[in-house]
Amino acid sequence: MTTTTTVSYICKTCGVQYAESAGPPERCIICDDERQYIGWQGQQWTTLDEMRAGGYKNDVRELEPNLTGIGTQPWFAIGQRALLVQTPQGNVLWDCISYLDDDTVERVKALGGVQAIAFSHPHFYGTMVEWAHAFGGATIYIPKADQQWVTRPDPAVQLWEDKVELFPGVTLIQCGGHFEGSAVLHWAAGADGRGALLTGDTIAVAQDRRYVTFMWSYPNVIPLNPSAVRRIVDAVRPYPFDRIYGGWWHAVVAQGANEAVERSAERYIGRIQG
Ligand SMILES: [Zn+2]
Ligand SMILES: [Zn+2]
Repeated sequence: MTTTTTVSYICKTCGVQYAESAGPPERCIICDDERQYIGWQGQQWTTLDEMRAGGYKNDVRELEPNLTGIGTQPWFAIGQRALLVQTPQGNVLWDCISYLDDDTVERVKALGGVQAIAFSHPHFYGTMVEWAHAFGGATIYIPKADQQWVTRPDPAVQLWEDKVELFPGVTLIQCGGHFEGSAVLHWAAGADGRGALLTGDTIAVAQDRRYVTFMWSYPNVIPLNPSAVRRIVDAVRPYPFDRIYGGWWHAVVAQGANEAVERSAERYIGRIQG
């Protein structure tokens, strides 16, 4: 009798985990897509066990009351940090990372755990199923338009479109652009009640942190057209917000974010229209 051990492999370039298989998948559909790229050393895979043995750890840092960032050290794959929004009715993990260990689970449980997981876009799906299972079956919200990018299907996945209020004052808004299902999370209580948007790559914070940008591909530098940019801005305009949290520790527009989105869209459209 022979037994086959199956493992859930993680792509080393995008950090997204695949369904269990006996050997590494042939290719990563996320990295094979025009918006990403295959690592310069060719397609490479790892596993959570290998990462745990390799000395990775997660930083868990409070960013403002009821908002905590979770990011992996040393840098792994795209290097985004996840955000945990805490509310009295339940917590949302916004965007996901690949690395997860017992220490992280304990620290996040002390903050109330995770009841819902939602994303700006598929590049940040990470090991979402591991996270959902670690926190007692949190619901994973995937936009209907992006379901083909789910590489590890699971009963925890629930499809959505347009907008969903996950908990009072925490709303998922589909904006499109980078991906058809690209979304932001509006957190009404953020920034001392002035409102915050959690945006990942849907509305990316520029290096000067006074402007934002909108791209179809960031690594391959492919812009969006004017109507796609307008659609993003129109989707968020009804929601009050003063601060934007992008996908990385430094990617924050601390104040005046609403005006920053409007003037950034105007500048961008002006540039691409010539
Ligand atoms: Zn990949
Ligand atoms: Zn992306």
